[in-house]
Amino acid sequence: MYDFIIIGGGILGMSTAMQLKQAYPDRRMLLVEKEDAPARHQTGHNSGVIHAGVYYTPGSLKAQFCLAGNRATREFCDAHDVAYDICGKLLVATSEMEMQRMQALWERTEANGLEREWLSADNLREREPNITGIGGILVPSSGIVDYSAVTRAMAAEFERMGGEVRYSSEVTAIEERNREVVVTTRQDEFNSRYLVSCSGLMADRVVRMLGKDPGFTICPFRGEYYLLPEQHNQIVNHLIYPVPDPSMPFLGVHLTRMIDGTVTVGPNAVLALKREGYRRRDISPRDLAGMLTNPGILKVLKANLKPGLVEMKNSLYKKGYLELVNKYCPSLTLDDLTPYPAGVRAQAVSRDGKLVDDFLFVNTPRTINVGNAPSPAATSALPIGAHIVNKVKAQVEAG
Ligand SMILES: Cc1cc2nc3c(=O)[nH]c(=O)nc-3n(C[C@H](O)[C@H](O)[C@H](O)COP(=O)(O)OP(=O)(O)OC[C@H]3O[C@@H](n4cnc5c(N)ncnc54)[C@H](O)[C@@H]3O)c2cc1C
Repeated sequence: MYDFIIIGGGILGMSTAMQLKQAYPDRRMLLVEKEDAPARHQTGHNSGVIHAGVYYTPGSLKAQFCLAGNRATREFCDAHDVAYDICGKLLVATSEMEMQRMQALWERTEANGLEREWLSADNLREREPNITGIGGILVPSSGIVDYSAVTRAMAAEFERMGGEVRYSSEVTAIEERNREVVVTTRQDEFNSRYLVSCSGLMADRVVRMLGKDPGFTICPFRGEYYLLPEQHNQIVNHLIYPVPDPSMPFLGVHLTRMIDGTVTVGPNAVLALKREGYRRRDISPRDLAGMLTNPGILKVLKANLKPGLVEMKNSLYKKGYLELVNKYCPSLTLDDLTPYPAGVRAQAVSRDGKLVDDFLFVNTPRTINVGNAPSPAATSALPIGAHIVNKVKAQVEAG
């Protein structure tokens, strides 16, 4: 009998496992992950940005956890020898409308307690000679890291304290009984007093295994990137972001300095036809049928038909993608966009057809399930793990 089982070897599962073990060093704990290594899905396919907390509604879990996570990630990396770089981020406005939107973001950064600097077009040019815009906001606390490396360090810490990790162990059924939870994987059956699920793109399916209607469905959005050729590794000094359209949940195609010294462009946001489908041609009949029969997802698709089609066009035609970047970095050409692996975001969609904005958890007496944890959840992984540990403690105290 385990005291705690954690599903998911992404950054949220590993952060939670590590902090649960710190809170309960003598209890038996097991983390099960269906892939053969940690960070194989969202955690290993993202932009690697340590977000500062620019965009999030003041007072939301995202705003709180991102701000705390920015600091906690640096401290964790310092303590575990994981490389990171606080290179700062520049939001760049290229039109009057974007200037107005940027003004709203300026106010939001104030409400979220961030250090930042307003830049004129001249200031912008001085800081970033290859970037063109009519104004910008510099946020010095944004940075970059390899979240797979962070997750591996968390896994090592969990195992060092005596936690068990089983890879290639897909959970296929869960039964919550009066005083225990029975977790069935493809190979084994485990009993535990409590269960935490951090299963990313499969979050809703894991909640359904408990016999509970999660109230949301995961809609997968592929984020496609390009890699700039090596001669452009110094093209920017900061992370360069466009001013996002406030009606869209994603941040827009940005220029990201990666911790290995390269620079990527992306990600866009295209509806994926398979939850863990990283290539355009990946289609899962089960996932597709689930989406096309889900009233919430159909509503989202209908409401966002035009931007959705534009994203799809820009995904298929590199020229359209390039235009997005050329708005603020005019010197890049088609030849500069070289292939780079895509990621797939797990975005929860509510039954009434809304993209769930904040982090979301679904609890039962003996389980805690992460329901919605899109960006900036990698940045926020340590505070999210701490939040889950507090919820587990409340369950343990309630008996
Ligand atoms: C393109 C893209 C760019 C992003 N950029 C950033 C960024 O720059 N900064 C940032 O903070 N965030 C970013 N994010 C968000 C961030 O990557 C995710 O929010 C975070 O990685 C979520 O972690 P997770 O552990 O919940 O999910 P995942 O990393 O997806 O892990 C879930 C794990 O659960 C496992 N699992 C699922 N079902 C089962 C089962 N039945 N049995 C066993 N195991 C199971 C999966 O195999 C997987 O390993 C980005 C995401 C994407 C996709």
